Amino acid sequence: MTTIHAIRSKRVVTPEGVRAATVQFRNGVIEAITGYNDSSSGKHTFDAGESVVMPGLVDTHVHINEPGRTDWEGFETATRAAAAGGVTTLIDMPLNSIPATTTAVALETKCTAAREKCWVNVGFWGGVVPGNAGELRALHQAGAFGFKCFLVPSGVPEFAHVNQDDLRAALPTLAALDAPLLVHAELPGPIEEATRKLAKSDPAKYRTWLLSRPPGAETKAVEMMIRLAREFKARVHIVHVSSELSLPLIRRAKREGVRITAETCPHYLFFASGTIRSGRTEFKCAPPIRDLQNSKKLWTALGKDIIDFVVSDHSPSPPAMKCLDTGDFFRAWGGISSLQLGLPAIWSKMSTRNYSLKHLVRWMSSGPARLAGLEKHKSAIAIGYDADIVVWNPEKPFTVRPKMLQHRHKLTPYVNQPLRGIVEATFLRGEMIYDRGRFLGAPSGTLLRRGER
Ligand SMILES: [Zn+2]
Repeated sequence: MTTIHAIRSKRVVTPEGVRAATVQFRNGVIEAITGYNDSSSGKHTFDAGESVVMPGLVDTHVHINEPGRTDWEGFETATRAAAAGGVTTLIDMPLNSIPATTTAVALETKCTAAREKCWVNVGFWGGVVPGNAGELRALHQAGAFGFKCFLVPSGVPEFAHVNQDDLRAALPTLAALDAPLLVHAELPGPIEEATRKLAKSDPAKYRTWLLSRPPGAETKAVEMMIRLAREFKARVHIVHVSSELSLPLIRRAKREGVRITAETCPHYLFFASGTIRSGRTEFKCAPPIRDLQNSKKLWTALGKDIIDFVVSDHSPSPPAMKCLDTGDFFRAWGGISSLQLGLPAIWSKMSTRNYSLKHLVRWMSSGPARLAGLEKHKSAIAIGYDADIVVWNPEKPFTVRPKMLQHRHKLTPYVNQPLRGIVEATFLRGEMIYDRGRFLGAPSGTLLRRGER
């Protein structure tokens, strides 16, 4: 592998701002940030020119599905997509693989399956399901970064959703461990009620799907989680916030000192329901993509730190499971593939909104790193941090084509979308692993465990 000890660029994004600089590292860790013309590294310097050098993205919401459903997505393909998208660390969700990561033994099974396949760093969330409260401590000790639960059916039978009693059994342990609980916040009641009224509606119309998952399902779930976070003094994180109606609830809870954080995903910020045509089930996710006005409110909430960050919720399936033949939104698998495209998708929209590279790093690197407790070693170009770095050109446009995607399945709503921002190179602990479409060397990602560097 090429020996590089420094990267220099006219635009290095540091915590103090964007400046021309040389980033020097040793043994994979940043040891100095010097002037652009500092030539002490000589020929071992990678010259990024005008391209942006910034911390690699951290994506804390990825469904890899291996082992058990590797034909949906696996460690090799998902982490290639990550590297090509400038993501240097991802945390895998506990469901869609078999076994689900709901016991310490299952975590070991996942780690064994992932070994020597990961192009980027990979860690794991554990799962809270009915009846596994007694497992949580061991799972946490084994290295799970925190826990995920569903309040509605998850889509797979081996990862059951929890009710308030199950949460009451789990939360004292999670609070004692100071582990975050990531919550899919939709309640079944409002969804069942809405769906009953839609019995005669066309299941291939996007609007039917949208109406079946009303904002009230989300706001009632968020309200419940705020109550529980307050009562148990627990850390609660709302995944994929989709509705503007959740925003005032989260804002108020934060102001009142409730330990709550929130994320949203590129598809809620990039697309809007009004343009999704009938039968286009590659747009299906839950909660659903809502209208343009709603999307604008999510952008504003990001700017005000009501929503803390943006992660992919990359959740692919084999194309046949998307039921494109019938276009039935209710039978199709829900989940959007976007791990490789988050950076250009978000950048394309945010750069027209007066948001800057500083926001981008906060939303897509340091924010998610903090949720996982990785913020002391990852997500900054600063001395003592891991040299996990992305080099990219924010001005360069491109159109998404299936053949450029590294995901196992190329079906994604971003196909044919014009975007801006091309990832040129990705570095993992100072080693270049990706160079304009080529992967270098062998997979060298670390399997991360909570509390270890
Ligand atoms: Zn998810």
